[in-house]
Amino acid sequence: MTQEIKENREFQAETKQLLNLMVHSIYTNREIFLRELISNASDAMDKIRFESLTNQSLLEGNNNFEIFLIPDEASKTLTISDTGIGMTYNEVIENIGTIAKSGTKAFLEKLKDNGTNTDNDLIGQFGVGFYSAFMVAKKVTLITRAAGQPQGVRWESTGDGTYTIEACDKETRGTTIILNLQDEHASSEHPKENFLDRHNLEGLVKKYSEYIRYPIKMNFVKEVPVLDADGKEIPDTPPAQTVEVRTLNSMTPLWTKNKNQITQEEYSTLYKNLFHDWEDPLEVIHSKVEGQVEYTTVLFIPAHAPFDFYQRQDSAGIQLYSKNVFIMDNCQELLPEYLRFVRGLVDSPDFSLNISRELLQQSAQLKLVGKNLEKSILKNLENMLTKDRPKYNKLWLEYGKALKNGVYSDFHSRERLQELLLFPSSYSTEELTTFKDYLIRMPESQTVIYYAAGKDRAQVEHLPQMELLKEKGIEVLYLLDRVDEFAIEALGSYQEKKFHSISRGELNLDDTSSELQKQQTADLTKDNAALLTAIKEELTGKIAEVKISTRLKSSPVCLVSGDNGISLSMEQILAEMDNPLYKANRILELNATHNVFSILKSLYENDASSPEFKDYCQLLYGQALLMEGLLPEDPIAFANKVSTLMARNNK
Ligand code: ADP
Ligand code: MG
Repeated sequence: MTQEIKENREFQAETKQLLNLMVHSIYTNREIFLRELISNASDAMDKIRFESLTNQSLLEGNNNFEIFLIPDEASKTLTISDTGIGMTYNEVIENIGTIAKSGTKAFLEKLKDNGTNTDNDLIGQFGVGFYSAFMVAKKVTLITRAAGQPQGVRWESTGDGTYTIEACDKETRGTTIILNLQDEHASSEHPKENFLDRHNLEGLVKKYSEYIRYPIKMNFVKEVPVLDADGKEIPDTPPAQTVEVRTLNSMTPLWTKNKNQITQEEYSTLYKNLFHDWEDPLEVIHSKVEGQVEYTTVLFIPAHAPFDFYQRQDSAGIQLYSKNVFIMDNCQELLPEYLRFVRGLVDSPDFSLNISRELLQQSAQLKLVGKNLEKSILKNLENMLTKDRPKYNKLWLEYGKALKNGVYSDFHSRERLQELLLFPSSYSTEELTTFKDYLIRMPESQTVIYYAAGKDRAQVEHLPQMELLKEKGIEVLYLLDRVDEFAIEALGSYQEKKFHSISRGELNLDDTSSELQKQQTADLTKDNAALLTAIKEELTGKIAEVKISTRLKSSPVCLVSGDNGISLSMEQILAEMDNPLYKANRILELNATHNVFSILKSLYENDASSPEFKDYCQLLYGQALLMEGLLPEDPIAFANKVSTLMARNNK
């Protein structure tokens, strides 16, 4: 809806907060406002180009896609205009007046944590782009007309919490942003901070926006001497001024050059320009492929995952080009879900320029390219793991969870992915281990790969089930991520060695001492059959079985789950994900050599129906839960029983 009168509106509360931060920013790197505004202009042109594929009339016969920078000394303004898709009245209110994006809210929260010290490039990281204009401008005026709309919109703000908006005329489609620069940014006293200085602007475009796909142009005024008819300079005549339009960015598709002619810095700039990141990428994979489908690809692994990477459903995807011409952003069909952290582009003469997203999903060529990309990324990761472990560790920290998810969700890639997994283990407190290294260290007699699942290292290391394995010097993998146990279960085994939870079934320690112990346990079980049944009855509905343990050393009790079905920790995860119906088969194991066991036994023999015996059963079960990091079902009743016991013993 278009308003005839000028409206005065307030920014949304969060936006105000953000603006206030921008205006009073002590941020030193203010020049990035230009990068942000140019990248918005570039996005807007991508949008109109894509829309016009199906609606040619939107272009209004104007095929010119360009960004113009106009510094004006007289008015101390810097104008940035584009021929992008523009915005309607409501879009301006929505996009510029409110922060709809979760990213901006997260940005504000992060700022709160960091205080007002915004020196590290948080602004660039969170793409709070447009508002960065207020770091350098006293007043920002935005004049825009959406493609296909008869009327334009004029928006203006000094960043004080309010803005005005009104309808206006605008001839060409697109957006023009006029920055009334703050004095310090419009003065020749500080050339680097002067955003009217053409050479400074040119340098900033080279630095931040070199590979933006659209020409970024600026007028340069050239002085030429006035010549007479013979071509000789006329003395005492002031030179004439001619205006020359120059394109500041090279726009060269860097990937068409040979690999050995491209520097790391050029790759980094390309990456930052195309994907609006502020940090160099961790890894670049550049390849040219000739075969069934011909294509060139440059893939980047960002140094850091986006702050909301693991909460986000959608993925960023890959850019598609055909013969250097941009077709589409965020093509998610190319890479499997577990590689969604990889950014990059594919340029193929075989891609059609007029491809729609629907057609794309069915494209056999694209599927083939996707398969190849996946292979080459995996190969790269394999190389990194063996040749540059510190780098791989960094990658693992950021994206390990995604790779583990791949094991769980991508059957086809399991074989290769399992080699790329890293886990903490009892072997080292610092280094993570691969399965391969675990196998190399493992004694020949060991038949399974042991693991323990829990919340953190300390919790797992204190599990009563760990005691025996520690004593025997057997290495145990620690599964501390939610996805871990699901991934391990999906794998089942590695190099024919089964994965075995230390909290499940029997431990299968195939040595003579454990054979002996098994025999003793069998005898104890027989001797105490009635007691075990009584405990099981007391804990009806809570546990499936009570056993004499072979794995406990100093703890009186522990809780394990059966060989089949889900484990206790999986049960917890599923419950947190609103699947409370999946229950592990709980087995309570008792340490027959522990004092508590003797007391329990005598309580039972004195009077099997006494409240003391019942309390002991409940207390043991509660303890076992606590050691697994679970709460007793009725914590207050548990605490009361402990208090009663404490008081009794002090009599
Ligand atoms: P982001 O670019 O990450 O979305 P910005 O704050 O930079 O965040 O921009 C907010 C929104 O304003 C954009 O998503 C876009 O919808 C709109 N916008 C900004 N600049 C332009 C422009 N030059 N042309 C069209 N829309 C724009
Ligand atoms: Mg932006």
